[in-house]
Amino acid sequence: MTEYERNPVRSRWRSFCPKCGIETDTFFENLCEACFRAGLTLLAPDRIAEEVRASVIVCPHCGGFFKGNERTDLEAVVEDAVRRAISKTHGPECPVEFREAEIAYDEAARSAHVCLRVQARIKDLDVVERAEFTVPVRRAICAQCSRIAGGYYAAIVQIRADWRTPTEEELEAAVELAYAVLSTEEFVTKQQLLKEGLDLYVSSAECGRRMAKAIVKHRGGNYFESRKLYGRRGGREVYRVTFLVRLPGYTVGDVIELAGKRIAVDKIVPGEGLEGVELQTGERYFVPLRDQKRAKRE
Ligand SMILES: [Zn+2]
Ligand SMILES: [Zn+2]
Repeated sequence: MTEYERNPVRSRWRSFCPKCGIETDTFFENLCEACFRAGLTLLAPDRIAEEVRASVIVCPHCGGFFKGNERTDLEAVVEDAVRRAISKTHGPECPVEFREAEIAYDEAARSAHVCLRVQARIKDLDVVERAEFTVPVRRAICAQCSRIAGGYYAAIVQIRADWRTPTEEELEAAVELAYAVLSTEEFVTKQQLLKEGLDLYVSSAECGRRMAKAIVKHRGGNYFESRKLYGRRGGREVYRVTFLVRLPGYTVGDVIELAGKRIAVDKIVPGEGLEGVELQTGERYFVPLRDQKRAKRE
């Protein structure tokens, strides 16, 4: 028997992988097994991370992970994202098995370290891939916590100014300073803009104090702390603490606007008010403390 008779196709039409040139008669999407495997991706970390980031939150209040309003765990969310990504690329019937799945949430970094070893069956080949990557996790108060707490707060930071109303710019800066000192488990429940300033309702007295200190440190003025008995919890008295931040009042050199007049402040009369010159007419004015509150710094 000649070679030709035993295997006519093989001897006449020897086939090669178009990519690497190796001789083969088993093709996977027109490539040899090695080239086909080399071109496969099971785990696309960026895509998985993006999907996890979009679908899950961690609640800083209770520490739970949530998908919508449903409690879940990171393992389930990550595995789900991996399955979805694989079935998108390799077809919905592609079987996927997790050989290894280690997911460690790092609260300080607001992300999870993920270590996976996944096996899938693609075109009759068992493909195993391992990947290690980081996925960011969004923080948000879960629906349950906000419901149960119903606007929970332990302290109020009141931002005011001495004998005047804080400007919008000052309030914005103060809020920014306040948020900057929030630790991972602290939060602001409510932010209320008032005629005389702004109130921040915060989750703990410690965080309220830190906020007040930060504002005073950067913007001047001072703060006062007071507490009110709020109730008892487990035989312990529970207080709500108020931090009254007073930004400095007007100073010499300020130009204030009051009742259509622009007054350049040139003298502060402690306990009484301020004196200054109206810019258009050059007239001297005395503005008593009680009227100062209606004025605005230019
Ligand atoms: Zn090849
Ligand atoms: Zn929660």
